[in-house]
Amino acid sequence: MKTPQDPLSLDFRIGEGLSRLAMAHRVDDWDRAKATGLNPTQLAILGLLERRGETGLGVKEIAAQLGVSQPTASDSINALERKEYVAKHPGMIDKRAVRVVLTTDGLAVIGQAGQENGLATEALAALDADEREDLLLTLIKMIRHLQETGAIPVQRMCVSCRYFAPFAHADAARPHHCKFVDAAFGQRELRIDCRDHVEADPSSRAATWDAFQTG
Ligand code: SF4
Repeated sequence: MKTPQDPLSLDFRIGEGLSRLAMAHRVDDWDRAKATGLNPTQLAILGLLERRGETGLGVKEIAAQLGVSQPTASDSINALERKEYVAKHPGMIDKRAVRVVLTTDGLAVIGQAGQENGLATEALAALDADEREDLLLTLIKMIRHLQETGAIPVQRMCVSCRYFAPFAHADAARPHHCKFVDAAFGQRELRIDCRDHVEADPSSRAATWDAFQTG
């Protein structure tokens, strides 16, 4: 029999806290989706495709990025295709590998869903600027751990990007450098899902992370 978790342990209580925040996010997702006549998974697919531009994504990648099964992703994509919010194109190399791309109608629907105002934004309002920056760094560290252990796909974060040069500048406000846009940027601008991200190879990712951690 599995040992029950200790409800007084720090990890257990952090898990409870994260679950409450996830609940607030789910409420926000439903509210935004309701404004468009879609469900949260369908709206999340449109958002994901919007950040991938003309290249689009395959069904398998969409399922992996959203953490849903391939049949669930397929059903949602088919529903979006019937509404003409997405289109399917043959792959550039393998013609049988379908790429799903956002249409102009799909882009308009994302606009209807509105910005991310809701319970999650309200919760963040309780933090000052430094606390938000600390939270962002903590989230990046946790997400990176999941991706490096193979629990989730590599995310399009600066810390996994081949264009990221951490602490390349002496300027404390903007210490990092993005080689894609050739510009310095600060900790608060670190990206979680950047459309220009190009995945670095595992050894470069490890070296970049070490440099990022040691500052
Ligand atoms: S391309 Fe995007 S993910 Fe890569 S370093 Fe620049 S801002 Fe970060």
